[in-house]
Amino acid sequence: MEKGRVLVTGAAGYIGSHTVVELVNAGYEVIGVDNFSNSSPDMLKGVEKITDRKIPFMQLDCSDREQFAKVFEQYPDIAASIHFAAYKAVGESVQQPIKYFENNLRSLLCLTELSVKDGRERGIVFSSSCTVYGEPDPENLPISENAPVKPATSPYGRTKQMCEDILRDCVTAYPSLRVTALRYFNPIGAHPSALIGEMPVGVPQNLVPYITQTAAGIRKELKIFGNDYPTPDGTCIRDYIYVCDLAKAHVAAVDRMLRTDGSDRYAIFNLGTGTGLSVLQLVNHFISATGVSLPYSFAPRRAGDIIKVWADPRKANRILGWKADTPIDDVLRSAWAWEKKVRGIR
Ligand code: UDP
Repeated sequence: MEKGRVLVTGAAGYIGSHTVVELVNAGYEVIGVDNFSNSSPDMLKGVEKITDRKIPFMQLDCSDREQFAKVFEQYPDIAASIHFAAYKAVGESVQQPIKYFENNLRSLLCLTELSVKDGRERGIVFSSSCTVYGEPDPENLPISENAPVKPATSPYGRTKQMCEDILRDCVTAYPSLRVTALRYFNPIGAHPSALIGEMPVGVPQNLVPYITQTAAGIRKELKIFGNDYPTPDGTCIRDYIYVCDLAKAHVAAVDRMLRTDGSDRYAIFNLGTGTGLSVLQLVNHFISATGVSLPYSFAPRRAGDIIKVWADPRKANRILGWKADTPIDDVLRSAWAWEKKVRGIR
């Protein structure tokens, strides 16, 4: 049964591609857009193979209003959009803040304007991040949606905060608009088919792609940044969430926006497992789950790293009827299967 049309920006990206799969599985019509600035058409081929469907797609830059308007002209029946298209490298954002503000804010403004222009009821799911909480006070762990938003530590993080603020103001101003901001913790893993997954450009900055590339022999060893933190084993703690579980939360958020009476038109949800794992614990899970050896050593702390953070996902569990429950070993095996597939390792 068709449920309505959902626009996915950044459809060829890591979380975008997994979300398109789950939307199709749930019976939604999808229109994907992407400019391939940090993604590849191969990912769309993977999505089409998994779903056995041709996915309508337009290659364009969401910050180009003229081009972007054509999507809404062609598909005026878009009922909701999920906005992934954004730059996401924290370090680069510190070096090139204008690039980040220009792209991430302009794309969101274009999407919002096009969503409200004709007065039709529409929803936007915004891809936000737990970075908005900064370093949480220990008494705020696990982090609920009520925890204070702290000043951002990078322009990337600031774009997430600013986009949330823009959307909140727009919900107030435009009665036809509904918004769900999803604050992700640490998305990892790949689709069980190994046809789509994370594709970092250059040296991976994130832990799991660095682990899988090291296991594949592309990197010499994993450097664990800091083992003198005030945590049980001295390494930082994060809430690692499986990308397919995360993708399903987007479907649940769209379902809810299209179903509810509109009394709560701006909602925020934390998306995590509710359990924190240290870097060392994650490394040990990877080794035991895959049976692969992983050379690692301890290195100095990485500037800007938060010591420990994990989610209180109970609001999402309750209101979205969603839970991230894939066991971590399965998640890490999926990441390794994807790396092997990409590298042609048997
Ligand atoms: N990390 C590490 N070595 C790496 C990459 C990351 O020890 O090569 C650590 C990092 O210091 C942090 C955790 O892994 O404690 C998660 O880092 P990631 O960049 O994946 O996510 P984020 O910092 O955004 O939570």
